[in-house]
Amino acid sequence: MFKKILIANRGEIACRVIRTAKNLGVKTVAVYSDADRSALHVELADEAVHIGASPVSESYLLKENIIAAALSTGAEAVHPGYGFLSENPDFVDAVEAAGLIFIGPSAASIRAMGLKDAAKALMEKAKVPVVPGYHGDMQEPGFLAAKANEIGFPVLIKARAGGGGKGMRRVNDARDFSSALASCRSEARSSFGDDRVLLEKYILNPRHIEVQVFGDNHGNVVHLYERDCSLQRRHQKVIEEAPAPGMTAEMREAMTSAAVTAAKAINYSGAGTIEFIVDGANGLRPDGFWFMEMNTRLQVEHPVTELITGLDLVEWQLRVASGEPLPLQQDDIGIEGHAFEARLYAEDVPKGFLPAIGTLEHLSFAPDARIDTGVVEKSIISPFYDPMIAKIIFHGKDRSDALDGLYAALRHTQVAGTVTNKDFLANLTRHQGFASGIVDTGLIERDIDQLTNSTKITREVIAIAALISLLDVPKSSGSDPYSLIGAFSLWGATNNTIYMKYAGEAIRVDVLSVNGNDYECLVAGENIFMPQCSIMCRHDASGKPVYKFSSGNKTELAYARWPNHVAIFDESLTSTFEIPDPLVQAGAQGAGSDLIISPMPGLVKKVTAIAGANVGKGDSLIVLEAMKMEHTLVAPRDGVLAEVNVREGDQVIDGAVLVALLPAAEEGKTP
Ligand code: ADP
Repeated sequence: MFKKILIANRGEIACRVIRTAKNLGVKTVAVYSDADRSALHVELADEAVHIGASPVSESYLLKENIIAAALSTGAEAVHPGYGFLSENPDFVDAVEAAGLIFIGPSAASIRAMGLKDAAKALMEKAKVPVVPGYHGDMQEPGFLAAKANEIGFPVLIKARAGGGGKGMRRVNDARDFSSALASCRSEARSSFGDDRVLLEKYILNPRHIEVQVFGDNHGNVVHLYERDCSLQRRHQKVIEEAPAPGMTAEMREAMTSAAVTAAKAINYSGAGTIEFIVDGANGLRPDGFWFMEMNTRLQVEHPVTELITGLDLVEWQLRVASGEPLPLQQDDIGIEGHAFEARLYAEDVPKGFLPAIGTLEHLSFAPDARIDTGVVEKSIISPFYDPMIAKIIFHGKDRSDALDGLYAALRHTQVAGTVTNKDFLANLTRHQGFASGIVDTGLIERDIDQLTNSTKITREVIAIAALISLLDVPKSSGSDPYSLIGAFSLWGATNNTIYMKYAGEAIRVDVLSVNGNDYECLVAGENIFMPQCSIMCRHDASGKPVYKFSSGNKTELAYARWPNHVAIFDESLTSTFEIPDPLVQAGAQGAGSDLIISPMPGLVKKVTAIAGANVGKGDSLIVLEAMKMEHTLVAPRDGVLAEVNVREGDQVIDGAVLVALLPAAEEGKTP
C-alpha cells in the first residue's frame, strides 16, 4: 500500500478519498486554489499545496502544478476524484512520466472510451449491445439526415466528445433535423472543441441503469451490481439508487455480464461504470438495454453501491493501484437492502435551478444518514465551482424503508445562508410514481410544476420569526451570546413593530405582549395568538448549540440566527427572513435612550424635530419611508433635542443616528 498520496481534486470527493486513506494509514496531500485556502479538504489532509488562482483553469486543471505538488511532497500516487483531470489521458501520461502512479485506469483504457463513437464501435465488436444508430466517420449533413430517416424518428444527435448532458439534441421530425444538427454542432465545437456527432435512436420511456465494474492489474474484472440513475433533470442525475427497482435476475445477469465484457475488452483496471440506456416501456427485458458510454473513474453516486455491498470503493481503488489483486471474487460479492443518494445543491429552484452562492451560516444534517460533504458551517459556496453542498445517502432494509429514511434525512437537513434544492428533493421522495418504483428519465420534466411547488409560508411562521427577533436578543458582550435566553420580557413597551423582509417582500408584524409569555401578532391583517412562547438552546452530540422556538400551538421549530437574519426550519421548508437588528429597533424605541436611530434603510419623508427644541415623550420627530411603509420615529422621553442630522429627502442607512437628545444630566445647564 502507498505511504502518501496526492488528491487532485476538491470538495466532497477530496474529503471522501482522505477519509479512506486515513483508515488505511495512508498520508494525504491536498491541493487548493485561492478560493479554497480554508476549505475542508485542506484542513483534513496531512499536507496541502497551493496550486493557483480560483478559476479551475488556473488551478485544478493545471497538470504541471499538480504533478509538481506531488513530487515536492513525496507523494507516490495521484487520486483524481471525478471531474477535473479524472478522465484526461494526457494527465495520466504526465503522471506516469513523472514516476508517479495514477489511481485509475491506463491512459489507453481512457482513450478507448473517451469518444462516444469509437467506444460504441469497440463495444459492437465485443458483442455488447449498443443503441441502434450511426456512429461512423461520415459527417456530411445530407448523409446524416438520410441515416436519421433510416433509424426512424425520434432520433438523438450526440456530440461524440460530449459529456455532462451537453451536446445532445432530440429530433422528433425529419423537418427539424438540419437545424438541430447545426445547433448541436456549434455547441459541441464551443464546449468540446470537436463538432463531430453520432446519431442514436431515441429510446422512449428511457431508464438509465449503470453497472459498477472493477478491474485489477492481474486481468480480473468483477461487477458490483447496478445503480438506477433515471431521476434526471436536463440529463443531470438528481437522485440515484441501488439496486434498480424492478430488476430481475435474468436482466441483471445480462447487464452485468455485458458490463464485465466491456471492461475486459479494454483491459480495464480500477473503478469504472458502464452506463446503459434501458427501454422501460414494458418492464425490464434482457433484450431492451444498450451501452451508452463508460465512465473511467469513480462516480459521484458510488456511495449507494458501497452501502448495499458493504465495500469501500476508494479502498479498492488504492489497493488495485498499488498492485494488489481485487480484494474479493465475484461470488463473494453480495448485496443487502436498498440505498438512495440525493444531491443537495445551492440552487435557486424557482429561478430555474440557477446555481446559487453564499456563506453557509448554519448547516446541520440528520445523524443517521451518510453525509458526504466538502463543507462545514461558515464555508462559502463560491461561484467558481460546482455548488454541491452534500450528498445525502440512506441505506434501508428495502426500497420503501430507504426512501422513507431519505425523506426524513432531508427534513432534518438544515441549511441557511443560501438557497437550496432541498424542498425539491423532498418533493421527489414523496412523488407517487417514484415511490412505487416507476422511474424514467422524463419523470422530473413531466411533473416539474408539482415538484417545484413549495409549501407556501404561513402567517404563523412569519409571526414566529418576529417573536424570535424580539425574544432571542444576543448579548453584545460575554462569552455566551445567548445567555439572555430564558428571560422573555420585552424591553420597555409591550407593543413592538417588527419590519422584516421575506423573499424580497417587506412584511410588518405588530407584536403585543398580552400576558406573560403569550403574544398576539398582527400579520397581514390577521391576528395570530401565540401562547406560551419560549426559546430553548440545547447542545447536540457534537456540542453545537441548537436553537428552538416553541409555543402552545406550534411545538418546537428549529431556527438559526446570524446578523440581521433568522432562518426557520419547518418540515422540509426553510424560511429566511431579513430583520434589522432588534437592538437597533430597541434603541430607537426604548425609553430612556438619547438617540433616535434609523431602524432600517429608508427615505426621510418629514422632519419635525428642531435642534434646541423641547419635546415630550411620544412627540413625532421624523417620518421615515421604508419597505413601502411610513414609519414615525418618536421622542423616547421628555427632553431637549441636541442635534438633528437629517433633512427631508435624505436617504439613510440602517442604524444611522437621526436625532440626538441632550443627555438628561446636561439639561438645564447653560452652554
Ligand atoms: P453525457 O455523456 O453527456 O452524460 P450520455 O450519453 O451519458 O451523455 O447521456 C445522458 C443522458 O441522456 C442519459 O442518462 C439519458 O437520460 C439520455 N439519453 C442518452 N441517450 C439516449 C437515447 N438514445 N435515447 C433517449 N435518451 C437518451
